[in-house]
Amino acid sequence: MTDVLDLFKLTGRRAIVTGGGRGIGMAIARALGEAGAQVALVSRTAEQLAAATAEVPNSVAVPADVMTVSPVKLVDDCEAALGGPIDIVVHAAGFQHRQPAVDYPVEQWDRLIRVHLTAPFLISQELGRRQLASGRPASHVFIGSLNNLQSVVPDIPAYAAAKSGIGGVLRALSKEWSGRGIRCNGVAPGWVRTELTEALFSDPQKSAAILARIPMGRLAEPSEMATTALFLASDASSYITGQMLVVDGGWTTS
Ligand code: NAD
Repeated sequence: MTDVLDLFKLTGRRAIVTGGGRGIGMAIARALGEAGAQVALVSRTAEQLAAATAEVPNSVAVPADVMTVSPVKLVDDCEAALGGPIDIVVHAAGFQHRQPAVDYPVEQWDRLIRVHLTAPFLISQELGRRQLASGRPASHVFIGSLNNLQSVVPDIPAYAAAKSGIGGVLRALSKEWSGRGIRCNGVAPGWVRTELTEALFSDPQKSAAILARIPMGRLAEPSEMATTALFLASDASSYITGQMLVVDGGWTTS
C-alpha cells in the first residue's frame, strides 16, 4: 500500500522554476528539490542563480530573461541541463511597477504583461506540446495573487490585469489538457515579505494597515507558498486541476 507521504515525493521528476533565484520561486525550488526533483532555476542574473543553486538541492542554473527568451530555446536548455524531458513547471518570475493608472506608461504595461502573463503561457504552451506528444503526465503551477480575485492596492493596473488573466490561462489549459494527463493549477499568495514587497513593508503605516486586515495577524513566509506549490506539483493533488489555491492567512474571507 502507498504511504500517503510518498505521494508528495518527486523522485525522478524534472522541474523548471522561473524566478527561482530568490523569494517565493527559490523557496518553491527548494521544496521541489527536497522532495527529490531535479530542478532548473531560471532567472535573469547569473550571480543570483549561483547563490540559489548552492542552497537548492538537485538544482542547476539556466540564466534567461523570460520576457525575451524563445520558449523553445528555454525548454531545450532546461532539458539539456536536467538530462531529459520536463514533468513540472512553476511560473514564479515577476516584478512590480507602481504608478497611478492615469500616468501608467504603455511600455511598463507591455513589460509587465509579458513577464507575468504572456511568458508563462508561451513556456507552458511549449512544454504542453512536448508532454502531449509523448503522453508524459505533468503538472503546471502558476503563481497568481490576491489581485486574481480583488483589487488590493492602487497604482498596479498592469499587475492586476496580469494576475487576473493568469487564472484564466490556467483554467483554459486545464480544460484542454487535464484529460490527457496535464494538470494546471495556481497558488495565489497573500502578503509575503520578499524584495518585491519590501517597499510596502518598510513603510510602517502601510505595513500596519495590511497586518490589521490579515486575520492570522502576520505575513506569510515564502516556505508557506512552497508547500502549497509542492502539493500541486505532486501526485498528492492528483484530482485537482483548474484551481487557484489562495494562501492568504484569511485575507480574502475576512
Ligand atoms: P522577488 O522579486 O523576490 O523574486 C522574483 C524573481 O523573478 C527574481 O528572482 C527575479 O530575478 C525573477 N525575474 C523577474 N523578472 C524576470 C524575467 N524577466 N526573467 C526571468 N526572471 C525574472 O518576488 P517574489 O515576491 O518572490 O514574487 C514571486 C512571484 O510571486 C511573482 O509572480 C509575484 O507577483 C508573486 N506574488 C508575490 C507576493 C508577495 O507578497 N511577495 C504576493 C502575491 C504574488
